[in-house]
Amino acid sequence: MGTFKLGKLTLRSLFSKPATVRYPYEKRDFEKLFPQLRGHVVNDIDTCILCGMCQRACPVGAITVDRKGGDWTIDPYRCIQCASCTHECPKDCLSMDVHTTEPTCELHVITMHKEVAAKPAAKAAGAKAAGADKAAAKPKRELTPEQQARVEAAKKAAAAKKAAKAAEAGGDAPEAAPVASAASPADDERAKKMEEKLANMDPEKAAKVRAALAAKAAKDAAK
Ligand code: SF4
Ligand code: SF4
Repeated sequence: MGTFKLGKLTLRSLFSKPATVRYPYEKRDFEKLFPQLRGHVVNDIDTCILCGMCQRACPVGAITVDRKGGDWTIDPYRCIQCASCTHECPKDCLSMDVHTTEPTCELHVITMHKEVAAKPAAKAAGAKAAGADKAAAKPKRELTPEQQARVEAAKKAAAAKKAAKAAEAGGDAPEAAPVASAASPADDERAKKMEEKLANMDPEKAAKVRAALAAKAAKDAAK
């Protein structure tokens, strides 16, 4: 049985084409035979925007991107053909060619150059000036009387708070401010009574009460 099989193989080999090729005189059609082969990285420099994503993606640091100088460089003998750069490129300008890098006695890098338009300084300055002009030309927002009243009330409240804090800190007692202005005879009466009470109070405590009352009045006015 074994002899029969061996004989069949021998006879087939005698009349069929050899499995090998006479390299380097003959070369295989890589594109057809191994379309998925990762031979080396190719960059379509016209599409490249020199963003540097490929440089960041390369695990072995085979790619260098000089954005200012407009140079894209690859060291083909450092590249391990992982194809990470081709996946990361936002412009899809990187691809893997099926042909491997030619053997060499001297290592070298491949640099591709692209003209980068210099940012005109005058243009940048003009844009800055235009921005400044725009800001200056922006009309100041006018407040409505209601908003104005609210702002005034907030200012008064802040001043009262500040005075209360100063009194708390034990500094000079703020000048006694009149208790909230009376709007009606009843209010007037109430204010008078309060003034009397405050006059009999400890000055420090009285200052605090005055400040609290002023703040409350300002808050009410804002409403
Ligand atoms: S990622 Fe693509 S576009 Fe960006 S520098 Fe590399 S090759 Fe150029
Ligand atoms: S194929 Fe891999 S190793 Fe080669 S340059 Fe791209 S990221 Fe780097």
